[in-house]
Amino acid sequence: MSNKQHFLLSAKARTLSVRQVFELTEQQAFETFKEVRWGKGDNVACPLCGVLNKHYFIRVRRQWRCKDCNHTFSVTSGTVFAFHKLPLRIYLAAIAIYTNAVKGISALQLGRDLGVQYKTAFVLAHKIRESLMEQRDMAQLSGEVHIDGAYVNGHIRPKNKKADRIDRRLAIHQKPTKRCVLVFRQRALPAALQSQNNSNDATIGATKTITFVVKSENQADVIKLADRVVVQGSTICADESPAYDPLHAKYDTKRVNHQTEYSTDDGVSNNMAESYFARFRRMQYGQTHKFGIEYLANYANEAAYREDTRRWPNGKIFTDILTKCVQTKTHHDWCGYWQGNKRQAERLAA
Ligand SMILES: [Zn+2]
Repeated sequence: MSNKQHFLLSAKARTLSVRQVFELTEQQAFETFKEVRWGKGDNVACPLCGVLNKHYFIRVRRQWRCKDCNHTFSVTSGTVFAFHKLPLRIYLAAIAIYTNAVKGISALQLGRDLGVQYKTAFVLAHKIRESLMEQRDMAQLSGEVHIDGAYVNGHIRPKNKKADRIDRRLAIHQKPTKRCVLVFRQRALPAALQSQNNSNDATIGATKTITFVVKSENQADVIKLADRVVVQGSTICADESPAYDPLHAKYDTKRVNHQTEYSTDDGVSNNMAESYFARFRRMQYGQTHKFGIEYLANYANEAAYREDTRRWPNGKIFTDILTKCVQTKTHHDWCGYWQGNKRQAERLAA
């Protein structure tokens, strides 16, 4: 079909709006959380002892008391949103706004949309990112896998006067926070091999993306991470960087030299890795601007999640993110963040 409408313009792509979420009553928001966490019905699982039962429901407080261990818990107890202070509807609205922000969203913008302080929005958005990170699918990639790396936090602004400028290529002048994001992307199966029932899912480009943060694009880290996430016997496509040279010994490895071409005459490219970085850079330049290295792995994974769900209806993404949030345990780094209880170390993959 020549004038086929783009999926994102179709009604099927719009199954949820922020307006719908803001119109929910607190009771409806509570029921949404409860159903996503424990399913339909009256059985709920105590977060302390784990027993699934029809525990005593204290209606006025919307809390349960466990019949087995007497623990009192709410619909968010034990999840990433534990000890919540805002109405439940606001958490759902935050997820809806986050879902629709396909290039990411800054804490300032989220705070303005929700009518909450910057600090509140910052922690809220990071709780969502943390959930996406903890629940990410680390099953190995296979078939054709595209690899690439890109640097962040490396820019050194040249001094105004030429006489004051330094050689920005030298290792001694590099910033201590400079990091490399490595991406591994698996190509979708050819259309003929895809099952009929997931026609909304991506049929072209990449289907699964895994990211890592390393200090530099180097041979040791690349081979170690490839061993972790790529099935033996897969085909790997990479650019001319020497960091990818050792892959030839273990995988069917194809190279494209970006100095001369983006795609070789026999069709080799690492364009799916490049398209990941297109979204990642737009998130960086348009929304986050700077990445704290403690959270860089989460930002990189956020861009990967958004790439992999790019052809899903937004209602499906919303439910998926909410599911991941209620499956993620209460996170030490995100309880009392502004009281000083924050992550000290970054998450380097290798
Ligand atoms: Zn219990």
